[in-house]
Amino acid sequence: MATSLDEKQSSLKTFLESHPGIKYIPPNGPDFSSLSALYVCSSPTTPLAVVRPQTADHVAALVSFCTAHAIQFTVRTGGKNIFGLSSVQDALMIDMRDMDSIQIDKSKSSVTVGGGILQAKLAGALAKEGLVTPSGSLGFVGLVGWSTYGGYGPLASHYGLGLDNILGAKVVNAEGEVVVADKELLKCIRGAGGAFGVIVELTVKVYPLNHLLGGMIIFDSQDLIPAYEKFNAGYQTLLENGAIPLELDVQQFIVNTPQGKALAVAVVWSSDDHEAGRACLAKIEALGVVVMNTVESQTLAQYVEIMMSAIPPVAYGSCRTINVRKWTKETSQILSRGIHRMPSLFGTAFSLHELRGPSAAPNPDSVFATREPHFMLEFISLVNKEEDVKESEEWGASLRNEILQKDPENVLPGTYISLTPPGDVPLSKIYGPDANYQNLLDLKKKHDPQNVFNLAVPKLLES
Ligand SMILES: Cc1cc2nc3c(=O)[nH]c(=O)nc-3n(C[C@H](O)[C@H](O)[C@H](O)COP(=O)(O)OP(=O)(O)OC[C@H]3O[C@@H](n4cnc5c(N)ncnc54)[C@H](O)[C@@H]3O)c2cc1C
Repeated sequence: MATSLDEKQSSLKTFLESHPGIKYIPPNGPDFSSLSALYVCSSPTTPLAVVRPQTADHVAALVSFCTAHAIQFTVRTGGKNIFGLSSVQDALMIDMRDMDSIQIDKSKSSVTVGGGILQAKLAGALAKEGLVTPSGSLGFVGLVGWSTYGGYGPLASHYGLGLDNILGAKVVNAEGEVVVADKELLKCIRGAGGAFGVIVELTVKVYPLNHLLGGMIIFDSQDLIPAYEKFNAGYQTLLENGAIPLELDVQQFIVNTPQGKALAVAVVWSSDDHEAGRACLAKIEALGVVVMNTVESQTLAQYVEIMMSAIPPVAYGSCRTINVRKWTKETSQILSRGIHRMPSLFGTAFSLHELRGPSAAPNPDSVFATREPHFMLEFISLVNKEEDVKESEEWGASLRNEILQKDPENVLPGTYISLTPPGDVPLSKIYGPDANYQNLLDLKKKHDPQNVFNLAVPKLLES
């Protein structure tokens, strides 16, 4: 068993000699820095090495090798875990990005992809066939990491969360075998993803959609708080009156721009009936004075590409979330004050996701617990200067705590695992109620008794 770093390096090299198809990027290799880098670079780590498997058998061999030699490993795809969890000091990084095959089934109702697919590439391939699958707003996120832990995004109110669209998976399990996930394993994957294995293939539903209507509507924000309150009062009325069909996703942001703080609303109408979409969007535009409107007919692939240009290419910091059932007077007032004191630091932002329709419906074939209509408030501290992190994160944490203290009845116990700092909220709350969490722990003990996937999200068992 390898114990020192040198011994681990040496046994890895010996292993790779008999597996020449696996790409090996050692720490002194020319591409090591760029390939091991993550999106959030607050706590840089140096993995033992980066390896890029090309097949499911390569992944199986790597898992078996690591287990036999007590070498810790992480699995990385898009590198967008906000807390940097896909890279750990001296652990082997299994980089899945070469496994990005795309196979659309003949009936055009599903697509089977390699476990290392990024959402932008998948959206581009599906667009050529007039199809979409639910996605996050930013194309550089991995499909597996996004969908298996939840998968919030602009098509969720129409088609459900990412995890609701998972039909099947091929997994390298804790024994290092490639298996087709059965009903029980699939249930675990839908919500707890990589804690149950390395997902080498995923099959997800696809839907016919040639062009959506999507873009940003920016409202006059010279008097930001009144503009924000007017927008939300009007939006809540539209929701209550059933005037926002499930095809329309509305994600509010308060962002820092060179001109100051602004109310920006990302909208996506996911139907080819653009006449109906324009009529519906007119109701959103009427909620304030529009100063910029980029909404246009485009493919989902174009939309997720454009959205990436609005954020820093790499970031420092993190984010926090809290889920509230309703838009109460109390929450609304706390947010108004919080937005007023939001630091004017680029990358500090507030965002509001909404779960309704199929995205809020219980899914008994998943371990994801937060299934009732709610708003996810996101306090984003993904700034482009390291020295700005503290102020930005303190703002987000204090605002979150204020809502928790002053409007507790309105707060759901669970938060979104992908946007929750490790240890901030107990996993028993995230995966609760209690019987569900206990069931998840029992399933983890059954499928991974030795905790082979101990570095994966979420960390269900003690190492
Ligand atoms: C800028 C930004 C925007 C985001 N926007 C959204 C959003 O709109 N909606 C939303 O729901 N989430 C969003 N997220 C969160 C994101 O979906 C999750 O952090 C997701 O897990 C990232 O996946 P990844 O492959 O890109 O990241 P990675 O860091 O590569 O992976 C994250 C974790 O996923 C697991 N994993 C990845 N690939 C595999 C695999 N093939 N097999 C097994 N386990 C695997 C591993 O445990 C790994 O630690 C965003 C994150 C960022 C940084």
